[in-house]
Amino acid sequence: MKIEKGVSLAQFTTLRVGGKADAFVRVKDCDEAQQVLRFAQKENLPVYFLGSGANILFSDVGFRGLVIKNEIFSLEFSDTRVKVGSGIPLAALVMETAQRGLAGLQNLAGVPGTFGGGIAGNANEIGEKLISATLLDSAGEIKKVKQDYFAFAYRYSNLKKTGEFLVEGELQLENSAEDLRKQVAQLAREKVLKQPYEKTAGSWFKNPEGKKAWELITQSGCSGLRSGDAQVSKQHANFFQNVGHAKARDFLELEKQVKEAVQNQFGIELEREVVVVE
Ligand SMILES: Cc1cc2nc3c(=O)[nH]c(=O)nc-3n(C[C@H](O)[C@H](O)[C@H](O)COP(=O)(O)OP(=O)(O)OC[C@H]3O[C@@H](n4cnc5c(N)ncnc54)[C@H](O)[C@@H]3O)c2cc1C
Repeated sequence: MKIEKGVSLAQFTTLRVGGKADAFVRVKDCDEAQQVLRFAQKENLPVYFLGSGANILFSDVGFRGLVIKNEIFSLEFSDTRVKVGSGIPLAALVMETAQRGLAGLQNLAGVPGTFGGGIAGNANEIGEKLISATLLDSAGEIKKVKQDYFAFAYRYSNLKKTGEFLVEGELQLENSAEDLRKQVAQLAREKVLKQPYEKTAGSWFKNPEGKKAWELITQSGCSGLRSGDAQVSKQHANFFQNVGHAKARDFLELEKQVKEAVQNQFGIELEREVVVVE
């Protein structure tokens, strides 16, 4: 385990935006994560957990502390249950479970990110399948919890509040006789055709109750709107894209303009889904 200094964060996010982290470390198992958290606490260093960076905007000045890149890739099947290391890519998890005829995760086909990031933000309601999990608190102490601990809601889990680290989680899936691989490949293809994949962080805003953020943004005249090299996608207006060498401040300015336009047009305040780390 090696702590690196002054590492550019842009390369670790799908938006390709962000300054440098003072310190950066990769963790491959629970022991390493515990050691790192104990070290950070001793040195009084703020920490930030990073999966695939598919839902993050790091600021242009980077992060004054230690970024912990999750590379916990364990995967253990037992009948219809699977214990998933938090660094496992969702794509691999979806494909591997489909191959084994285990249903329940098809709606995550085509969603980038790691299992840890997925649980933290309850991506496509993945939390419904979680039965138990292992967490680490800021002192590196292990905590075993059940599903209700997370208080999953739309794009929300309590991890966002507690700041704890998910080490692994156990999912309950179901046996299926259907061709899940075909289903998953089809769903991923449809998603790729509907949404831009290059240099985006997925949906920028949450959908307000009963509404679609992309429709509100389009109807407010913001499709294609640009600030520096940050642009509202013309293909899907709730996706912001880095169309060149955008800075974090370009995205924040674009966000401000879109929010104002939607507020003026519909009187609705859009709430950010992407995690901004300032
Ligand atoms: C093209 C595209 C399409 C997308 N489509 C969807 C979609 O359909 N549905 C959807 O829900 N999302 C979607 N997203 C967003 C993204 O895929 C999900 O939010 C994904 O779960 C993020 O995972 P990640 O590993 O990249 O998390 P990151 O972006 O690295 O982190 C996100 C948050 O989770 C925290 N976190 C990460 N790992 C852990 C951990 N082990 N323990 C505690 N906290 C942790 C981070 O600190 C951060 O606050 C899309 C993104 C893109 C780029």
